[in-house]
Amino acid sequence: MENLWSDVEAEKAVAGYAQKGVSRDLALCVYGTRLLGAEPRLVLHGGGNTSCKTVVKDLLDESWDALCVKGSGWDMAAIEPQGLPAVKLAPLLKARGLRRLADEDMVALQRANLVDPNAPNPSVETLLHAFLPHKFVDHTHATAILSIVDQQDSQALCEKAFGAKLGFVPYVMPGFALAKAAADVFDKDPSVEGLVLDKHGIFTFAEDARQAYDRMIRYVTMAEDYVAKNGKPLARSAAFAGDLAKPSEIAPILRGAVAFDRGEGRFDRFIVNFRASDKIRDFLALGDLERIARAGVSTPDLVIRIKPTALVLDPPKAGDLDSFDANVRRRVAEYVARYMDYFASNDGRGGFSRSMLDPMPRLALVPGLGIFGFGRTFKDAKIASDVGEVWIEAARGAEAIGRFHPLAPSDLFDVEYWSLEQAKLAGAKPKPLTGQVMLITGGAGAIGAATAKLFAANAAHVVVADVDGDKAKAVAKAAGNGAIGVPCDVTDRTSARLAFEAAIATFGGLDIVISNAGAAWEGAIGDLDEALLRKSFEINFFAHQTVAQNAVRIFKLQKTGGALLFNTSKQAVNPGANFGAYGLPKAATLFLSRQYALEYGKIGVRSNAVNADRIRSGILTDQMIASRSSARGLSEREYMSGNLLGFEVKAEHVAEAFLHHALAERTTGDVTTVDGGNIAAALR
Ligand SMILES: [Zn+2]
Repeated sequence: MENLWSDVEAEKAVAGYAQKGVSRDLALCVYGTRLLGAEPRLVLHGGGNTSCKTVVKDLLDESWDALCVKGSGWDMAAIEPQGLPAVKLAPLLKARGLRRLADEDMVALQRANLVDPNAPNPSVETLLHAFLPHKFVDHTHATAILSIVDQQDSQALCEKAFGAKLGFVPYVMPGFALAKAAADVFDKDPSVEGLVLDKHGIFTFAEDARQAYDRMIRYVTMAEDYVAKNGKPLARSAAFAGDLAKPSEIAPILRGAVAFDRGEGRFDRFIVNFRASDKIRDFLALGDLERIARAGVSTPDLVIRIKPTALVLDPPKAGDLDSFDANVRRRVAEYVARYMDYFASNDGRGGFSRSMLDPMPRLALVPGLGIFGFGRTFKDAKIASDVGEVWIEAARGAEAIGRFHPLAPSDLFDVEYWSLEQAKLAGAKPKPLTGQVMLITGGAGAIGAATAKLFAANAAHVVVADVDGDKAKAVAKAAGNGAIGVPCDVTDRTSARLAFEAAIATFGGLDIVISNAGAAWEGAIGDLDEALLRKSFEINFFAHQTVAQNAVRIFKLQKTGGALLFNTSKQAVNPGANFGAYGLPKAATLFLSRQYALEYGKIGVRSNAVNADRIRSGILTDQMIASRSSARGLSEREYMSGNLLGFEVKAEHVAEAFLHHALAERTTGDVTTVDGGNIAAALR
């Protein structure tokens, strides 16, 4: 592994932070932490931690010997000085004299001794850092180290690979007991440069920041070299003969199969993140894939990201999605049964009972294609794939030099159900649309933008599809929550299909489709150019059918229902003079919505329409508002608020109606009017 430390850069960091009143010790610690954090083969997503022992001042200008240690939940790659809260060292050292310290008491002790009471919770490995005497301490879960410690005979192997300068600490769950065990190993031979933690990772330490970092890189490199030199080629399974289905064809099947069925048509859905590389596919071709996957995660804290084990599937044969679907459903059911078994047989530990987390896998291995990470959010799905990649690297190395033998399920259970680990995931309370994906056509218009924003605020991941791709991207960016913008001409079947493919490529599937794109032409019906009427039918009717067909195709693969929403118009029920070209296809679309409600209710698809009127948009432009209001002798304000309630109806109000329908679990075949009250257009 390349050593990236640069004294020049380190001094730059020191000088930069000095201006903000950050000490040299802490600045160097931040610099080193970032270097370690930027390398996924060392640490990932909140894993690992670092510290330095230094002197800090409190508000009374009193100086304290303190441990600045990574705060729980901070990502090392992006750490800032405030991510390394200072804890008074003396009370931490005193704790070593205790025989036992409960996790909650350990957290309380650490918090009670923070120099800044508003600082984040110090890492669960704080005491381990404190009990080691060195000024700088680094800890990672390096994949190459894991290849060596995730073995049955790990201790002998460590001696062979690393020599005598690395102490060996048998596995103990992180917390007080591990801190004491590690300190005891260190005390037996204080000449060591680091400690290797069985089935977990490595600590290196030194009096100066650079040396602690150098030692980390040196030992990780030794591990890499050991694996490279001693690794044997691995047996591969017979390659699948024939063509494979594409990842985008199977993602909705996987997404549907792992959605957690809460009954009564409700599902906790996941976002799916696909990842592939030669390295990944090479690993997935191993003959012993199932055994390796069932062995467990490579270091304990990965269990909160990808559960104890990964799900292995058959290669998907091209053109035979039904067989793949059957395979996936069966394998997921087996996975769930195994997980429930694992929970039941370990729940008695500690003498109390817990409530089971959802039993769904977070990582699927599909030979020939790649890996699929599942998460309740886009971010979590990506984390699952990232974690999957480092798990693969550690497991592959372990298999090459021996046999991958990570932590036992009972030990993984303790970590998965450890309150201090679950706390890392807290704060992510599900919102109404968490895990759901929404696509809206005409997404860059006024109604589209307001709807994208509202759905994103309710935690949906949004695909903004619009004929103007650049505008769609801008609207997506403004909507937030990972929304994407895609170019889409709904009157072109290929273009429409590509927008749906983009939704699958990014999020794995779709749950809510809002067919919103439209365009209006005026003219007396008797004189109307037929070409124009047909053009209007293309966008205001046939395009809705194209969009709905694509949606239903995906809903059928997922088997978790879905919501179809159509933007019809007041014109669909109450024709306006010279507006036939617009109203006629919209009337057909209203019935299209009902047809979908009728035919797909049995697979849980709800189809509803929103009937809006007089919304400032690309269809009713400011210019049109000016000309129409003056033609009627009204002010613009009077014209726009000319309804029973007397207020202008805005795009946001239409967005609310769409959201209502997305959430209304027992409503289908309905039309919701958003026009401020217009009795002539009221549905009878
Ligand atoms: Zn650790």
